[in-house]
Amino acid sequence: MSDSPSETATLSEEERRHKARTAKHKKVVDARIAAAKIDKGLVLVLTGNGKGKSSSAFGMVARTLGYGRKAAVFQFIKGKEDVGERAFLSRQEGVTWENCGEGFTWETQNRARDIAAARAGWEKARAALADPDISLVVLDELTYLVTYRYLELDEILPAIRGRPPMQHVVITGRAAHEELLELADTVSAIRDEKHAFRAGVRAQVGIDL
Ligand code: ATP
Ligand code: MG
Repeated sequence: MSDSPSETATLSEEERRHKARTAKHKKVVDARIAAAKIDKGLVLVLTGNGKGKSSSAFGMVARTLGYGRKAAVFQFIKGKEDVGERAFLSRQEGVTWENCGEGFTWETQNRARDIAAARAGWEKARAALADPDISLVVLDELTYLVTYRYLELDEILPAIRGRPPMQHVVITGRAAHEELLELADTVSAIRDEKHAFRAGVRAQVGIDL
């Protein structure tokens, strides 16, 4: 949109320079947007030690449901307490939410039971990864199953690679294995700069739970 000559004349030198800079920037961004024409099912890995991995994944569940599409969530490591997203999102139409963990190993101290829960959860996730009606599959805290060798990458990778072409998959958890990073289209590693927990603040409703 071009301004009228009188309007341009009233701009200060600084405003004119700012306008020129932003117009140039917009041209570059618009060209990049125009060049991206591919639609495909994506694999996203949200990893790193910082806070914001699972909550981001659940945000994408909300986005998916907002379009009337279906999502399936598999929480592989169930903490002591449930999260608010489950209470809210699992009431919505189009979402299935499975808690398929027994908790962290150092709490349960029963590896055999943890493995059995992980495998049972994985079988359900595998079914979702074969269902073209499901637009988004969240494999929350899946990375720990690989780290603790509850599940082999040889089982996980083919199921993700062989999913319906338009289905998106979000994997969360710290220390994502190299092969998961390679498989992913989008990887975000969230850095832990500061966390209130280290200042003695316990998990807060709506923020951590
Ligand atoms: P969130 O679910 O809040 O998005 P997350 O999935 O990135 O967090 P997890 O490693 O799964 O992080 O840990 C979940 C819980 O631990 C949350 O209550 C979160 O606030 C807390 N947490 C995350 N990162 C840290 C950290 N660096 N130090 C302490 N607590 C953390
Ligand atoms: Mg998490």
